[in-house]
Amino acid sequence: MRVTIIYDNEVHALGLRSGWGFSCLIEKEGTPNILFDTGANDSILLHNMEKLDLDPLSIGMVVISHAHWDHTGGLSRFLDKNKEVGVYIPESCPEPKGAKEVIVVKEPLEICSGIFSTGELKGIEQSLAVRTGKSLTVIAGCSHPGVENILKSASQFGSPYALVGGLHGFSQFDAIKDLSLICPCHCTQYKSEIRSLYPEKYVGGGAGRIIDIT
Ligand SMILES: [Zn+2]
Ligand SMILES: [Zn+2]
Repeated sequence: MRVTIIYDNEVHALGLRSGWGFSCLIEKEGTPNILFDTGANDSILLHNMEKLDLDPLSIGMVVISHAHWDHTGGLSRFLDKNKEVGVYIPESCPEPKGAKEVIVVKEPLEICSGIFSTGELKGIEQSLAVRTGKSLTVIAGCSHPGVENILKSASQFGSPYALVGGLHGFSQFDAIKDLSLICPCHCTQYKSEIRSLYPEKYVGGGAGRIIDIT
């Protein structure tokens, strides 16, 4: 599988724009391409998608982690460009207009083959867990429910191998010691601490970063 960071507070690849927020593309063989979150600003989202050669019509479904503006800001204009997608939202998120179908997620759920939602945790946010072979990649928006809770919930689907996304307020660094790959993005406050504790696991984020996991 492949995770491409489309929108982040920092830039990794030349020509892309940064902005407060998060969005990434999840590609897995045999499943539709998933747009996970949409950043804050629709112009930045669409600019970065174009630079990454990513046609909005190539997206098969959208998953919104939580209702905050820095994750939903690009959704409405994206749905103008692609009216055929289903949008998975946690129960606490207002229903977006313009989607072909809106699926409200409360409990853990397999959204397509090998791709799972943790369900809405702590009444605010869902994360995704993508299974490939023996490994499980966890994708988080802001991690408001707590990284420990997200990883615990994801564990019902397999053994977490990688974690990609915003780790807001996260400082219980022991909780990620068993992961093999960690890519802290967006609102993560303690990137340098995570990097110095786990240099061999650390992958820097930024718009344009591509992570391949087998
Ligand atoms: Zn948030
Ligand atoms: Zn956020």
